[in-house]
Amino acid sequence: MARAFTQRRLLLATHNPGKVREFEELLAPTGVALDMLGDLPEPAETGASFFENARIKAEAAVAATGQPALADDSGLEVRGLGGAPGIDSALWAAPGRDFGPAMARIERELVGKYGSLAEADLACAFVAVLVLAWPDGHLETVEGRLEGTLAFPPRGQGGFGYDPIVQPLGETRTCAELTMAEKAAISHRGRAVRALIQRCWPHVA
Ligand code: IMP
Repeated sequence: MARAFTQRRLLLATHNPGKVREFEELLAPTGVALDMLGDLPEPAETGASFFENARIKAEAAVAATGQPALADDSGLEVRGLGGAPGIDSALWAAPGRDFGPAMARIERELVGKYGSLAEADLACAFVAVLVLAWPDGHLETVEGRLEGTLAFPPRGQGGFGYDPIVQPLGETRTCAELTMAEKAAISHRGRAVRALIQRCWPHVA
């Protein structure tokens, strides 16, 4: 049975102000006020799945504060690469957080495996998993997906990360060619947050 979230403030287990702003916008219908982690250290993301990593981040924030906390983990899954880069999506862009080489690596690995892009399985999905953890150990977990097809070469100036190579199903544009409002309407994070609102703020949904 889903547990409603009844407190006025919620801790977001991130140090990234951009993420806080995005969640503020997505959670606005609930009226909940979000707090950032502040000086607390972020734990190592040693999990083997988006869920495990989100859980590690949420539970570390709960342990440090005694308050419920929300964490997310996300990335790009490429079916032809067995789900890679997946939880390593940010790592593939390291050390400069430069996604040019990361997108080129996806293309190179697909060509290496299938012989050519024309023969490759280009199905992909952006995935976001959210974990809301309470001090008594209760967890609420939701997942949002944006299904798409890989497009090479990368196209578009908007968005971030892998957006220039991800063409949502039914679209002729990549995510980097959509407006922010268009992306938000279909994005994995938007879908995950809407699912969380249904579970934890049932009077809003
Ligand atoms: P994290 O959830 O902040 O760890 O982000 C994981 C990584 O997934 C990001 O650094 C991006 O590489 C990738 N990613 C997640 N969501 C998106 C998206 O909406 N567009 C492009 N890349 C994304």
